[in-house]
Amino acid sequence: MKKVLVCGAGGFIGGHLVTKLKNEGCWVRGVDIKNHEHKTTDADEFLLLDLRSERNVRTAMTISEVNKNGFDEVYQLAADMGGAGYIFTGEHDADVMHNSAMINLNVAKVASEFGNHSPKIFYSSSACMYPEHNQLDPDNPMCSEDSAYPADPDSEYGWEKLFSERLYFAFARNYNLDVRVARFHNIFGPLGTWEGGREKAPAAMCRKAAEAENGTSIEVWGDGKQTRSFLYIDECIEAMLRLMESDFTGPVNIGSEEMIAINDFAQMAIDISGKDLTINNIPGPEGVRGRNSDNALIREKLGWDYEQSLRVGMEKTYAWIYEQLYPTQPDFEYDDGVVSTREVK
Ligand code: NAD
Repeated sequence: MKKVLVCGAGGFIGGHLVTKLKNEGCWVRGVDIKNHEHKTTDADEFLLLDLRSERNVRTAMTISEVNKNGFDEVYQLAADMGGAGYIFTGEHDADVMHNSAMINLNVAKVASEFGNHSPKIFYSSSACMYPEHNQLDPDNPMCSEDSAYPADPDSEYGWEKLFSERLYFAFARNYNLDVRVARFHNIFGPLGTWEGGREKAPAAMCRKAAEAENGTSIEVWGDGKQTRSFLYIDECIEAMLRLMESDFTGPVNIGSEEMIAINDFAQMAIDISGKDLTINNIPGPEGVRGRNSDNALIREKLGWDYEQSLRVGMEKTYAWIYEQLYPTQPDFEYDDGVVSTREVK
């Protein structure tokens, strides 16, 4: 039975990954500094540990002290992160860089200590590591993997991701660590952060539309012409597993190529809500002007591509957030990808 450690198992992607790995028959240990906020973990074991401590990372990665047994695979998803309201304001730069870098420094080093028995490591980098100068035109952003250098990410979050990518590849060269690096482009879906300041655009749009009273407006940061693409969580997990199974190390984009302007994205959430709402563009953290995944490399190397439309993913996400907001009301229903038009109170 494959033994897998998921770092960041109390988070959005980590929580979904644990469920998938259990369904595939793996023995799974999850580790996080907190429990999952929206579900009971499916992991065989769940350890509450701060991975900024090297000692804690050693505890997390060791199955048996006596036999010095370790894991077959480690998915390193733990990071100090959030949406634009958390990583693009500048207020959390020092923590974001320090906390995430400490985790990655520890994971790379401790994994390499197992020598020939070192686990295969998956590292979740981000599209935020791409240079800002390639993402100035909202209609033609450039995010092919080979466009990463000369580097110029627009956030410290992106710089840390770039540093950690390089860190894992350095351990691969010098210590034969078997690594896989993926650059996620805006992963979304149910069971993610949807309030509190760390939520990302899809959850924020759904929450705002679900909370708004009919005939009012929802606020959107910036002029709304900035573009992005969003990948539904199930498709992300599938791509991660394929990358781990393959001989290809990456770095490789995992994202959708269905690019959309943020105001159109907000309108999508409004349409799903069934309400009559307008969009109020206000100043706020925006990030780069344009970003879209470039899937040429992942198609070529893994034969993977996104399939589900953004609209269908947003309907599922809206329905879940609606349930969180109004637990005593009947579920928000959608059928075959079309949200029911029942009246929303
Ligand atoms: P998330 O915030 O839901 O999960 C990250 C988890 O790491 C959290 O549960 C958090 O508690 C945990 N963590 C933070 N500090 C820790 C510490 N010191 N010790 C132990 N655990 C700690 O985020 P997510 O959306 O699930 O993202 C997972 C990974 O994917 C992150 O590395 C993130 O940077 C990367 N990523 C995500 C997206 C996305 O759109 N969701 C995009 C690009 C990259």
